[in-house]
Amino acid sequence: MTIQDQVTSHYVSPESSVIAKAILEAVLVPLITIDIRGQLLSFNVAAQNLFGYRSDEIVGHTIHKLIPEAYPAEHETFLAEYGKAESCGVVINEREVMGRRKDGTIFPVQLSVSAIKTEGEPLLIGVLFDLGKQKNIENELRIAAAAFETQEAIMVTDAGGNIVLVNKAFEKITGYSPEEVIGRNPRILSSGRHDSAFYAQMWQSIIDTGNWRGQIWDRAKSGKLYPKEVTITAVKGVDGKTIHYVAFFTDISLRKKSEEEINALAYYDTLTRLPNRRLLVDRLENALASSALSQQYGALLVIDLDKFKALNDTRGLEVGDTLLVEVARRLKFYAGKINTVARLGGDEFVILLETIAADEVSSIQFVEKFAEKIRSVLAAPYLLKQITQYSSSSIGVCLFKGKADSVNELIKRADMAMYQAKDSGRNCVCFFNPQLQQSVESRAVLEADMRIAITHQQFQLYYQIQVNQGQLPIGAEALIRWNHPKRGMVSPAQFIPIAEESMLIIEIGLWVLETACQQLAIWKDCTQARHLSLSVNVSAAQFKQDNFVEVVEAFIKKYRIEPSRLKLELTESIALDDLDIVIAKMMALRYVVGVKLSLDDFGTGFSCLSYLKRLPLDQLKIDQSFVRELKDKSSDAVLVKSIIDMALNFGLDVIAEGVETEIQAALLKTNGCNSYQGYLYGKPLPLEQFEALLSVSEPY
Ligand code: C2E
Ligand code: MG
Ligand code: MG
Repeated sequence: MTIQDQVTSHYVSPESSVIAKAILEAVLVPLITIDIRGQLLSFNVAAQNLFGYRSDEIVGHTIHKLIPEAYPAEHETFLAEYGKAESCGVVINEREVMGRRKDGTIFPVQLSVSAIKTEGEPLLIGVLFDLGKQKNIENELRIAAAAFETQEAIMVTDAGGNIVLVNKAFEKITGYSPEEVIGRNPRILSSGRHDSAFYAQMWQSIIDTGNWRGQIWDRAKSGKLYPKEVTITAVKGVDGKTIHYVAFFTDISLRKKSEEEINALAYYDTLTRLPNRRLLVDRLENALASSALSQQYGALLVIDLDKFKALNDTRGLEVGDTLLVEVARRLKFYAGKINTVARLGGDEFVILLETIAADEVSSIQFVEKFAEKIRSVLAAPYLLKQITQYSSSSIGVCLFKGKADSVNELIKRADMAMYQAKDSGRNCVCFFNPQLQQSVESRAVLEADMRIAITHQQFQLYYQIQVNQGQLPIGAEALIRWNHPKRGMVSPAQFIPIAEESMLIIEIGLWVLETACQQLAIWKDCTQARHLSLSVNVSAAQFKQDNFVEVVEAFIKKYRIEPSRLKLELTESIALDDLDIVIAKMMALRYVVGVKLSLDDFGTGFSCLSYLKRLPLDQLKIDQSFVRELKDKSSDAVLVKSIIDMALNFGLDVIAEGVETEIQAALLKTNGCNSYQGYLYGKPLPLEQFEALLSVSEPY
């Protein structure tokens, strides 16, 4: 018989004792009985589960085994009190105590003690309630509540996406109070900055992985947009279905701002806030890659302000800076948002145009218009410190398609085209072409060399014979040659255009004219040559000089030559100027000075009968391109015939240049041409050889 049996049998009838025993065991509440000395009499299943002792291990021992060491003394006092209890079966004490399990762990229990008074000593029944579990839940809730109120905003929605809970940080960041948002969709926070694809991708990630992390721009209640870093987690119920979504977020405006500041220092120009070279290179690399995919043309424009240094020097750096900022503003405005406008440094800017068109011609047409627009926009006046300032720009353009050329190569090309624009007199647009690179370099060198060529006596006149229908010499054309110390003989076709651009032609032309007059003077005493006329090429720029007539007259007088022996070869381009002035000059030359006038390269320009009729000419020189094509009955033969007919009708002499074959000579002759020049009769020759040629020709 167990002690428990003894207890129950001792106080009650045998039947009721069995019932009581069953009840003791069956109740889910831990229940123990002790005597007033604290000895355990019974220990039910729930108590065994709570303390970890089997009943037979503990019954008979004192209650001390179940109490942590710190508490027994207190317990003794209570036991003594219970002993004096008068009531029976009612709760005499209820308090929170600490219990100790078999494994030594300590836990809180709610203890209710009732005493059963019998004839002998009273029995004490303790009903225990494990507070540990409840405490844990309470603690967890307390921790959760504390965690909920962090710096990070928390928003909880139900499965349908309606907000059910938000914390204080949420209110602080969004400006919305819980009352304003609970029951509503988080959509009310959205800024409209992200498209539906963005949100679709976010939800896909939540469905697939249970969460999403990223940055979102939202709108606060005040209307202010702010960036936030968000983590959204799906909370699943026991059945695996999502019951809540929890979003944590922080406002990262400050962080973003400092990130942007760092970024700005590394990739942007501090004065104009435009991308710098480093960012341009990045963007250009991307542009090349996407052009390779799309097969669309793009373009790079290098823009350099004309005479910016002078402005800086005269009006100070501050005014210079103001101009740069204004230029940046205009460029950004006209280039549009999608194109990159960068500042390479100093007064050099770049515009990167992406995906213009798939074909070259329309791309060029577009860029031409665009560059011209930029040029005119930058040429508009600037108001700098109350003073109106004018500035212009030189623009170099280079197109690109695909990744064939490196970024640096493209910048170099656009740069080179920009220098070409500067060379062409500034305030203009130039496109890069492959020959440009070479020609820019050689032109600059040639021009510099040409400046010293006259004083170093590097120029020389060659003479090419002109004959009549009977092949007798009637004259010569003086053709300049440049005996360059390093390059050897440089063709006039190469250096005359450069000389014309740089106006060096004026000086060179004077030298030619004087040398020719000198030669005519010498030939006066030479039987073979005294009857010859000498043709001299005159550039339009030279002819245009106000004192040209006087200069010619002065040389004629100086060398005392017969004026009619000097023939000036003019080109059609002289007629581009005011025709009346041109005619007046020609009249003076022809009738006052007495020289002969020939129209060179006839047929290559815009010759039209109406003006030809008005020009006081002596001779028309058929361009060699017509002569070259002269074959029997060819269309050029018809053309040459009509030129000759027309010239003869006007009473002009006709000379054909570039005659190389007998056939050409015969055809010209049948059509009435009266003079001839070409390799068939002699190449342009240095003076001595030319004179030698004259001496073997039949005398005139
Ligand atoms: P241009 O005045 O039409 O001179 C005729 C050119 O044709 C010369 O070339 C001459 O050498 C070339 N030529 C003559 N006969 C033949 C031929 O039968 N076959 C071929 N294939 N060519 C022939 P060049 O000497 O090279 O002069 C080229 C141009 O340079 C001249 O064309 C003229 O416009 C300019 N030029 C030459 N000397 C002077 C000068 O002293 N002053 C100026 N302003 N221009 C000059
Ligand atoms: Mg000529
Ligand atoms: Mg010619």
